[in-house]
Amino acid sequence: ATVPNDLEPYWMPFTANRAFKARPRFVSGAKDMHYFTPDGRKLLDGAAGLWCTNAGHNRDPIVKAIQAQAGQLDYAPAFQFSHPQAFELASRIAALAPGDLDHVFFCNSGSEAVDTALKIALAYHNVRGNASRVRMIGRERGYHGVGFGGIAVGGIVNNRKHFGALLAGVHHLSHTYNRAEQAFSVGEPEWGAHLADELERIVALHDASTIAAVIVEPMAGSTGVLAAPKGYLQKLRAICDKYGILLIFDEVITGFGRLGYAFAAERYGVVPDLITFAKGITSGSVPMGGVLARKGIYDAFMQGPEHVVELFHGYTYSAHPLACAAGLATLDLYREEKLFERARALEPKWSEAAMALKGLPNVLDIRTIGLTVGIDLASKPDGVGKRGFEAMDRAFHEQDMTIRAVGDTLALSPPLIVSEAQIDEMFGKLAKVIKAVA
Ligand code: PMP
Repeated sequence: ATVPNDLEPYWMPFTANRAFKARPRFVSGAKDMHYFTPDGRKLLDGAAGLWCTNAGHNRDPIVKAIQAQAGQLDYAPAFQFSHPQAFELASRIAALAPGDLDHVFFCNSGSEAVDTALKIALAYHNVRGNASRVRMIGRERGYHGVGFGGIAVGGIVNNRKHFGALLAGVHHLSHTYNRAEQAFSVGEPEWGAHLADELERIVALHDASTIAAVIVEPMAGSTGVLAAPKGYLQKLRAICDKYGILLIFDEVITGFGRLGYAFAAERYGVVPDLITFAKGITSGSVPMGGVLARKGIYDAFMQGPEHVVELFHGYTYSAHPLACAAGLATLDLYREEKLFERARALEPKWSEAAMALKGLPNVLDIRTIGLTVGIDLASKPDGVGKRGFEAMDRAFHEQDMTIRAVGDTLALSPPLIVSEAQIDEMFGKLAKVIKAVA
């Protein structure tokens, strides 16, 4: 094993690595459904990296496209000019988008996409003379990255409490997607619509003329695989329409096939005003994010009132050639291998295999949607998150599999190329992990 302990002070991986010194977790290669470790092990990737390698790792067409682009055009500033692949990629993404969302703003990550979408919403109202529309509505348990806008609208208090005031006038809808409420909703098909009525109460309290946008994830991944209850997004859409509030779907995780469609908006049958995306657009190969908007909204942002350029927003690496090349090759793979349809077709098998874990020690709840699962484990008496962390660590070291742990919720989201046999293998390994942490 080549574990560079002497280099450890120079790069500190994030919170999941508090046990770093005791038990390093290194990977040195990846292909398709697997990671490889420096000591020669092969790990089944149950997490698609971090919900991102939707087409699988290091797929040949993506690698080749990146290599070819690297020798051709390394960089082109979007401020002065651009390059053909950027336009082509934007048009291909727009073709996959729901409704009339046909303009793309490119950036480099989900966090940048969220901050950009919030700024687009503010600018849109502002240039139309509605400068008082500045309030943002997020959700408890929403995760929207780590930019200042994203942590302000996000619903995870630990992510924002150390960072001051952030955006002014942010309100959060209640956490609606939890186990108790889902159980409560049995026999009440429109329960989600009732929950969304909370937005009416916020509007009544603060006046619609002060509210810019509502941002929600159709399925909150980073807080434990919590899908919008039935009717919820539809009702948010109706209320936003009624009051001229923009609706933003954060599809950084749900975009590009995770729920069996190019965007979850299609699955839910709701067209938002803005969609943020990242992760799956390049299958994790090169950083890229973006925002989808319809023309009127995008124009307001890019051109300002009466098309006078007085608004500024953009990144040095917006529509970076390498990312665009990777994105085009990734979209080709999704289409050629019908990976979104494949995810949809595998969903019953996936869900059945996941539900078979019910009854294992400490399993409180199992939720699936698309090719994702969230498995809530009971917390250990000595602390929230310990059982989840131990499960993640044991999966890596003892079962040769990668999983995500969000507190004590285990989350799986494999690349969409996963086979039925690999699904069985994954849940077989997971059952062993759950027993081992009992
Ligand atoms: N939004 C959502 C819904 C996410 O899941 C994430 C990342 N998991 C982000 C935004 C932030 O993306 P990034 O880490 O690329 O900044």
